[in-house]
Amino acid sequence: MAKKQFKAESKRLLEMMINSIYSQKEIFLRELISNASDAIDKIYYKALTDDSLNFDKDSYFVKITADKDNRTLTITDTGIGMTKEELENNLGTIAKSGSLAFKNENELKDGHDIIGQFGVGFYSAFMVADEVTVISKALGSDEAYKWESTGADGYKIEPCEKDSIGTEITLKIKENTEDEQFDEYLEEYRLKSIIKKYSDFIRYPIKMDVTESRPKEGSENEFEQYKEEQTINSMVPIWRKNKSELTPEDYENFYQEKHYGFDKPVKHIHIKVDGTVRYNAILYIPEKVPFDYYSKEFEKGLELYSNGVLIMEKCSDLLPDYFGFVKGMVDSEDLSLNISREILQQDKQLKFIAKNIKSKIKRELESLLKDDREKYEAFYQSFGRQLKFGIYNNFGQDKDVLQDLLMFYSSKEKKLVTLDEYVSRMPEDQKYIYYATGETNERIDKLPQTELVADKGYEILYFTDDVDEFAIKMIMNYKEKEFKSVSSGDLGIEEESEKQTESEEKENKDLLEFMKEALADKVKAVKVSKRLKTHPVCLTADGEVSIEMEKVLNAMPNNQNVKADKILEVNANHEVFQSLKAAFEQDKDKVKLYTNLLYNQALLIEGLPIQDPVEFTNDICKVMV
Ligand code: ADP
Repeated sequence: MAKKQFKAESKRLLEMMINSIYSQKEIFLRELISNASDAIDKIYYKALTDDSLNFDKDSYFVKITADKDNRTLTITDTGIGMTKEELENNLGTIAKSGSLAFKNENELKDGHDIIGQFGVGFYSAFMVADEVTVISKALGSDEAYKWESTGADGYKIEPCEKDSIGTEITLKIKENTEDEQFDEYLEEYRLKSIIKKYSDFIRYPIKMDVTESRPKEGSENEFEQYKEEQTINSMVPIWRKNKSELTPEDYENFYQEKHYGFDKPVKHIHIKVDGTVRYNAILYIPEKVPFDYYSKEFEKGLELYSNGVLIMEKCSDLLPDYFGFVKGMVDSEDLSLNISREILQQDKQLKFIAKNIKSKIKRELESLLKDDREKYEAFYQSFGRQLKFGIYNNFGQDKDVLQDLLMFYSSKEKKLVTLDEYVSRMPEDQKYIYYATGETNERIDKLPQTELVADKGYEILYFTDDVDEFAIKMIMNYKEKEFKSVSSGDLGIEEESEKQTESEEKENKDLLEFMKEALADKVKAVKVSKRLKTHPVCLTADGEVSIEMEKVLNAMPNNQNVKADKILEVNANHEVFQSLKAAFEQDKDKVKLYTNLLYNQALLIEGLPIQDPVEFTNDICKVMV
């Protein structure tokens, strides 16, 4: 019988499969099992409306049989089967629904993306087999047919014998090559693990004869091997079960089983949506940061299932970057397994699901914060930084989602507080949300710049993360309150001492100018401080860039040498200021010496490097002798 040719597009796809260098060839089994399961579905739905069909659940299954001697792997199903025409149309032409939605030639050549993302159905068998035989008998038909192909050169169809309705697909597994072991697709353990990995939740039993051993009859230490038919898949996915049926342990086991992480998640979220787009999802908020989380290697994403079949291991489109720590899976009946159906449509559904998931995660985090502070803080220790980056990225576009989830250490409470908590207890006369930056809470506690604000009894938020101040700059204000660094030029605090500061400033104009000259362009100005109470000196910044930001920016690889406009503030009420005044009358060199000392001290307090430490120690010695 003459061979028939494949339709042009099918031929291209087929060639792509035959020559595939795709590393996960194992997915061919997922594709064939899914087709089998779909075929059983079709009988199942028919039986729902047709009384003459008696759908007995036990007689529907998929069976996998490996024959090492003949190098064949057979996938048998008790599904609806195919007529001669269907064999011709379905397998001779790629997907009945029409043309392949390849975006361009390159994508086809490569094939990587397509195979990886959506699978390619029946033809994927040719990734591992050099000959495929399909024997099928359709429901309501007396004849069976055999479809055979060794690849791109075509196929033939002829009548054959088959007793029961259904389809039997036999793959002649390729010989091993230097790079690839095709033998493994004939190994029980390998087949079992592939089925477990991709098709565990297929609704029908996937059966396989598995080798077991038992003691030989009449003997205690002799064993014999025998074959036993086993169902490999667990069939009912946990996400399809009712929440009331499940215990916290069930969710935890699933987390471990799936290798989502080695920690114990702080929370699981089980979502069941039955609206325009139907989907189930189980999500987890981990407790510990994966070792590679804050590195380029980390890939966010959720597992994506289409009706119980895994189609993507890490679907990154389902999670915004700032919730990239969330683990779990999504299963939707409304997503198709095959690329040949309209991708655009899928995109829309995927977007809908992603949006849904995002707001769900936000709500769950908020309720965790409200109901289980301790757990929330554990989570926040791990991923708070990610939330702050989330605000900083996109120029604060997502601040509405994230700002209520933020926490900072409070000068008053001595623990983490939320912005809402801070604002709700602000005294009426307090205009701003004050913050101070530094390496650790202990260091910030001692910062001279905090003195006036703390003295007024106002709470100060401590920023110890590099990203903190940058994120806050993106939020700009919270509940109409602006953020203000305790080091900023105008603190917005009216003080009686203000007038005194001004007159001191006037009176000592020459001294301050002299000091500024001594420091040259190291500072923008030397001023009498309004904020210092007991400390003699501090550095503050004038303008948008704070000293902390300068530090962070200059530590970055693409260092742009950003400089803060630094102001050296001196405390006019401190004894040291009297010494400065006296020296200014008698010995200008001494003023220079004192000024340098004070400047370097201010640098030390800020955690900034001293340009010339040797000179600094020599200067101290000069004062001592
Ligand atoms: P898809 O399943 O996405 O349509 P495939 O290339 O995998 O694409 O299969 C093409 C068609 O062949 C299927 O739509 C189905 O109609 C038919 N088919 C494949 N496998 C089977 C099977 N085991 N039983 C019945 N029909 C099948």
